[in-house]
Amino acid sequence: MMDLTWHQHSLSRAERAELKHQHPCLLWFTGLSGSGKSTIANALDVALHQRGYHTFLLDGDNVRHGLNRDLGFSDEDRVENIRRVGEVSKLFTDAGLIVLSAFISPFESDRRMVRNLFPAGEFVEVFMSTPLEVCESRDPKGLYQKARAGEIADFTGIHSPYETPEHPELSLDTSRLSVDECVAQLVGYLQTRRLILERSQ
Ligand code: ADP
Repeated sequence: MMDLTWHQHSLSRAERAELKHQHPCLLWFTGLSGSGKSTIANALDVALHQRGYHTFLLDGDNVRHGLNRDLGFSDEDRVENIRRVGEVSKLFTDAGLIVLSAFISPFESDRRMVRNLFPAGEFVEVFMSTPLEVCESRDPKGLYQKARAGEIADFTGIHSPYETPEHPELSLDTSRLSVDECVAQLVGYLQTRRLILERSQ
């Protein structure tokens, strides 16, 4: 770290963002496996793209195929996984994008670490509050079944805790809300906070 210098670029993040009629931010989807993080983040990504906004979606499983393929599921590796995703998300927001990140991120301390990378108002915690019973009955990837059978250790919600966010910017329970209703709430939030601005087209 000693001999590194931070280079000040000529183009600011504000200038990059202004061109896109949006204010860069990170929407951090947290919740149990099967709570709907990927489904809702993906649907919002499409909805924003169709309205002409510039977005990028980071998904837990996909990141583990590349950037974080050297990491496992030990406590240490989980922390490092989230730290790297936070830093990558930060780079994408510096590029002017609205970033959607979908990670279980069960620990409050890890989510706080990412929140602290961002200026106030640019980290939007979206808690997928879908109850465990519903997530387990959906079991889209068959992981709960494997966890119950003892084939997966430390599975969040079964033998590893999920620390419920205390002050999320938004809570969405997909056992009560449809995909479209979740997307409408998220778009409404972004508009209210002026993170997306009307486009004159
Ligand atoms: P996660 O990314 O949190 O693990 P997924 O999005 O992969 O969750 O899985 C959620 C599952 O629940 C999907 O199979 C999806 O089709 C289903 N589902 C049913 N109703 C809803 C809803 N209202 N919102 C989101 N997902 C829903």
